[in-house]
Amino acid sequence: RKRIDILSVPIDVITKDETIQRVQEMMNEPGLHIVATANAEMVMLANSNPSLHTILANASLVVPDGAGVLWAAEQNGEHFPERVAGIDVAKGLFKVASEQSIPVYCLGAAPGVAEKAVSNIEQEVGPLNIVGIHDGFFNAEEETNIIRTIEEGGAKIIFVALGIPKQEEWIQHKLSHLDGVVAMGIGGSFDVLAG
Ligand code: UDP
Repeated sequence: RKRIDILSVPIDVITKDETIQRVQEMMNEPGLHIVATANAEMVMLANSNPSLHTILANASLVVPDGAGVLWAAEQNGEHFPERVAGIDVAKGLFKVASEQSIPVYCLGAAPGVAEKAVSNIEQEVGPLNIVGIHDGFFNAEEETNIIRTIEEGGAKIIFVALGIPKQEEWIQHKLSHLDGVVAMGIGGSFDVLAG
């Protein structure tokens, strides 16, 4: 697939609808699929953080979130079709998950926030198959339980809202053993969706 390098971070030339389509295909493909949303903050951080850079370079999808990324491409004579905001991808995936009863796990944000976000989304898209929700401030024992719930619940989509780069690192280090699973860092999206 076509990617454009922004400050040496490869970013996919893809639309929001194509992203949601691709994610559905990934759930039938082996391994863990990391979806990252690249804004200027993430691209700059990746330049000083080799571990984040490696995660992004190997991610299944890095979508062009953020006007700065689209602008930088234009400066190099290249072009992304549109801005693909993480929150819009998340909303689209929640809709698909509701329609197809896909098991979803939600991790991150302050206590109660992801629960409120899920209940707001359910008002919009209908009931969701949520295998678990946990806030983003957990100890080692809670983390073990989070991962066990993800495994035993058969989560196929995992939203992780721990901020950049914590969420990408956590996904890489804790979820790489999963198969046919999509994990996406969504930053402050639960806070926004909780309203
Ligand atoms: N967060 C969390 N655990 C942490 C640090 C942050 O759950 O240890 C949450 C925080 O409550 C917020 C999100 O991660 O919901 C980070 O949002 P922000 O907009 O700062 O993310 P970024 O700009 O990094 O995407």
